[in-house]
Amino acid sequence: MPRPIQATIHPQALRHNLARARSAAGQARVWAVVKANAYGHGIQRAFPALREADGFALLDLAEAEALRALGWGGPILLLEGCFGLDDLATCERLNLWHVVHDPAQIHWLSLRRKARAHRVFLKLNSGMNRLGFSPQQYRSAWQHLQRLPAVGGVSHMTHFATADGPQGIDDALDRFAASVDGLPGERSLCNSAALLRYGSDAPSPRADASTLLGDWVRPGIALYGGSPTGLAADAQAWRLQPGMTLLTRIIGVQNVEAGAAVGYGAGFRAERAMRVGVAAVGYADGYPRHAPSGTPIVVDGIRTRIVGRVSMDMVTVDLEPVRAAGRAAEVGSPVLCWGRHMQAELAIDEVAQACGTIGYELMCALAPRVPVQVD
Ligand SMILES: *Cc1c(COP(=O)(O)O)cnc(C)c1O
Repeated sequence: MPRPIQATIHPQALRHNLARARSAAGQARVWAVVKANAYGHGIQRAFPALREADGFALLDLAEAEALRALGWGGPILLLEGCFGLDDLATCERLNLWHVVHDPAQIHWLSLRRKARAHRVFLKLNSGMNRLGFSPQQYRSAWQHLQRLPAVGGVSHMTHFATADGPQGIDDALDRFAASVDGLPGERSLCNSAALLRYGSDAPSPRADASTLLGDWVRPGIALYGGSPTGLAADAQAWRLQPGMTLLTRIIGVQNVEAGAAVGYGAGFRAERAMRVGVAAVGYADGYPRHAPSGTPIVVDGIRTRIVGRVSMDMVTVDLEPVRAAGRAAEVGSPVLCWGRHMQAELAIDEVAQACGTIGYELMCALAPRVPVQVD
């Protein structure tokens, strides 16, 4: 029997979440962001569920190639643009649109000869100070691109640093509007957080919602059912469904005496006699090692907690709530790390929050050794 760990990808959930994003997007077209192997879900597995998108955005040229091999003939956008001159030939061969965020990329474009071969998204640094031209540099970068024979169209984009938090997007939106004012070309601004908090479906839509939504929106995490704010309650309020389940089983049970310790470093001590289950999932599977005692986990449909340190291949879980609910909690009992199983659900964001991280990181960290099925 194989080790009883299994990840499941839920294409119906991805399809549903894409429809939610589209409904929030109004008239704008939707880039499905599938970077990092579709946030750990697998491009091959996610693609059939997301093919109703208007385009796919990612940043690895090999992933772009994989999408073309899957038969996607529509738009593909490279979110970090080209990493070197050679990549421009790949863009021509695969017909990839690409972001231009640095003068080096404009220089490489100036060396290409194929007329109007490149459709680019010029990126404004609207305050995040990661990628993009400053508002002062933006127009001259745009003019420079316009003059290059190899460039066949220039769109405008920015990325919000604080769309998920109380600071919101007002300042960034002002900088973007001022920088692109009067320039022709499509616009793209929104990630999941901006789309869901301020888009067409928002509780109190903004007066400038159509400016904000622009021509293209770029949801990522929402497609996979994760919350862009880190709060499981928000994903629920937006009616997103979990795209990934990580399920394993109990492989051993210990009767731990009062005062005895559990796991490496004796990181947990039992206050009273208790039964502890050993589940076949560890940090080598992508379960976060920094998950503290108390991190939620579901055994046999009953919500409980991990106790003691996460090790490479195992975690130890408190079986008392499971037994109190009248369940057996024995070798073979199912253990839901996140996602859904039978009637039980555990939001990946809840697990992430307990670990001081975000659902994005847990999805992306799903380890290659975990077998993945599509339901
Ligand atoms: C990753 C990314 C997105 C998607 O962000 P989510 O928070 O996952 O919706 C959108 N735009 C850019 C430029 C990105 O890098």
